[in-house]
Amino acid sequence: MPKHAFSHVDTWVFDLDNTLYPPSARLFDQIEVRMTRWVMDTLGVDHARANYLRKHYWHTYGTTLAGLMREHSVDPAPYLHDVHDISFDVLTPDPVLADRIRALPGRRIIYTNGTAPYAERVAAARGLDGLFDAIYGVEHAQFLPKPERAAFEHVFTTDKLDATKAVMFEDDARNLAAPHAMGMGTVHVAPEPQTGDHIHFHTDDLSAFLGRITG
Ligand SMILES: [Mg+2]
Repeated sequence: MPKHAFSHVDTWVFDLDNTLYPPSARLFDQIEVRMTRWVMDTLGVDHARANYLRKHYWHTYGTTLAGLMREHSVDPAPYLHDVHDISFDVLTPDPVLADRIRALPGRRIIYTNGTAPYAERVAAARGLDGLFDAIYGVEHAQFLPKPERAAFEHVFTTDKLDATKAVMFEDDARNLAAPHAMGMGTVHVAPEPQTGDHIHFHTDDLSAFLGRITG
């Protein structure tokens, strides 16, 4: 990982779930359980059908919510409040990661397909609160999800960031395609690498990767 690849960067954009905490925490499992329950209750379908729809909408539209909005005109606010009502006990503070994020030169922001209040709670549970200049959720993208380019455009316009001087860290490789097309650097943060021109770097250890940039 050539350090100079990031020397032009003045804005560091982080996804939240499974990026700023490891997938081994399985925090998102709790959200998936609540999404499935919500689909069962709201659409009146059984567990198997609800589980199928949750995954089908994620694959087709980028998030389950996006599918529910497109196909069932679901009101996003109560849904988002309900599915994020989970326990954060599985998360532990990561002071080394905090130090490395703090050492990044420039603006540091979170952009999640969840909500900003949820991201605040996750960041606090990881000991990362106070490190970010801004936190954006799906509510800042007119409830359009990543990977849609329009969602990124809403958030990045609001933030006034220069995409050619920004880098995106994200576990879902789909969500790096639009940033790459907009001229951003991209880092895929996941246990397994994937191939694609839109993936500039891969790491299975965000903290170690940032340590090589800032060290
Ligand atoms: Mg994620």
